[in-house]
Amino acid sequence: MKYDIRIYGDPVLRVKSVPVGKIDEDIQQLAEDMIVTLRDNNGAGLAAQQIGRTEGICIIDISRDMTGDDSEYDGIEMPIIMLNPKIVDKAGAQEGQEGCLSFPDVYVNVERAAEITVQYMDMSGSDRELKVRGIVARAVQHEADHLRGILLVDHMSPVQKVAVAGKLKRMKKKALKK
Ligand SMILES: [Zn+2]
Repeated sequence: MKYDIRIYGDPVLRVKSVPVGKIDEDIQQLAEDMIVTLRDNNGAGLAAQQIGRTEGICIIDISRDMTGDDSEYDGIEMPIIMLNPKIVDKAGAQEGQEGCLSFPDVYVNVERAAEITVQYMDMSGSDRELKVRGIVARAVQHEADHLRGILLVDHMSPVQKVAVAGKLKRMKKKALKK
């Protein structure tokens, strides 16, 4: 089943996720639905809050044409389904344009760590650790933020916020009407 994407202003985007305990049918269905929803929207990542759920789950799905550089994958298979992801190590810095399905038509420069180590549970219930860099590291940091209720707008400088103020206002208005 495909979900509607929750847009900035929807209070669920600010809710901190609840860690997933065991992998039951509900979580399996949720992961499947999130992948379908993400691909339908041509996104690079999706967190539960963005479809109105609060389980600690996010999907990373970076297609190769998003990077043009295979080396950033380090052999990682996409999509990655992460349960309860926790970034345990960060190194370096990268600056780059970042967008978000919950902020349509908004792209801003955000500084992120260049390389991160993330711990999470996979869909078989095993604990995993992954070291990623480049655009994959950026996506994981973005989704881990979502699961803590932190949004793209929180990374904007005052100047960036002024530049997209009109768009943000319209999103909030729409979200409140629903
Ligand atoms: Zn996002």
